[in-house]
Amino acid sequence: MTAGAIKRQAQALGFDLCGVAPAASLPELAYLPEWLASGHAGEMVYLHKSAAARSDIRNFLPGARSVIVTGTVYNTDEGRRQKAEGGRATDSIRVARYARGRDYHVVLAERLEALVAWMRGQHVEPFEAAVFVDKHHVQERVYARHAGIGWIGKNTCVINPELGSWLFLSGIATDLALDADPPALDQCGACTLCLDACPTGALVDAHVLDATRCISYLTIEAEGAIPEERRAQIGHHAYGCDICQEVCPWNLAPPRSLDPAWQAVRRDGVSAASLWQRSDDELHQFVKGSAMTHLSLAGLRRNLATVIGNSGDAALLPALEGPGRGVKNAAHSAFTPAVAETVAWARERLK
Ligand code: SF4
Ligand code: SF4
Repeated sequence: MTAGAIKRQAQALGFDLCGVAPAASLPELAYLPEWLASGHAGEMVYLHKSAAARSDIRNFLPGARSVIVTGTVYNTDEGRRQKAEGGRATDSIRVARYARGRDYHVVLAERLEALVAWMRGQHVEPFEAAVFVDKHHVQERVYARHAGIGWIGKNTCVINPELGSWLFLSGIATDLALDADPPALDQCGACTLCLDACPTGALVDAHVLDATRCISYLTIEAEGAIPEERRAQIGHHAYGCDICQEVCPWNLAPPRSLDPAWQAVRRDGVSAASLWQRSDDELHQFVKGSAMTHLSLAGLRRNLATVIGNSGDAALLPALEGPGRGVKNAAHSAFTPAVAETVAWARERLK
């Protein structure tokens, strides 16, 4: 079984890019401990705990010799459709593009398992293979670079010269010896658009993200209330942030996926106040099936209250009074200390 045959099958299964990296001691793998030591990981204790495991994919799959890396375009026509529909409301929420369709963890794991099953049908000898999708202890961006998928940009995203950076990364570690691709070359050049555009200064240097300032971290990973000095910078972001990818010249004319899995369910652009008014059951329905389920309902409410506070629209003040449409016990998630603190802040800001 050749790397070329695997790549063709990967394409048939819906992956837009597929390359092979060696399961070797790659230099970029050493950056993680340095980054963690700088304190830029904030409350992401799981990264500290798993740092040793992440130092080499051979900890993930002992005996691994090759890493098959896939890239999947998730950008769709959603933005254009919204523009055609007209302007945004004062409290419309922003949801990162990767979270607008189905939960990629589920979809990509199914497709990778299908690729492994196909490989087992092709290769008569037994072999080891393990799939990884984001949540596993693998530094997939490093392997993506060495599989020729794309270079790691100054915004820390993997950029493919043809497809840009709106890409899910996932892959398979295997003990099969496959021909590796040449690593991708850095093509950021003198550009600093992402560093300049970041509203919180989270890109403290080229390739260095201080997660504690990043809107993606603050709206998804951080527990408790968002630090007060950061709340205004959150703007309309209720889940993640795409700014440093939106400004990237390599995403000027990005491909649009027609894959049904990534077509947007209406989440981005919805009114924060209308969501705030929903019950916990209704909010759960709103995020069901998407990557947004990785955020607790209390975390989502904290973010909605932040967006309402940033709306500048005093007419929204009454909406904050009755989460769950005022029905007793319908919105437990609205009464955690972090949410209560954010609501009090939003009220003050809107007065
Ligand atoms: S995701 Fe947003 S906040 Fe985070 S580094 Fe990029 S632009 Fe800055
Ligand atoms: S905006 Fe410029 S510097 Fe940033 S990732 Fe894109 S090309 Fe690189």
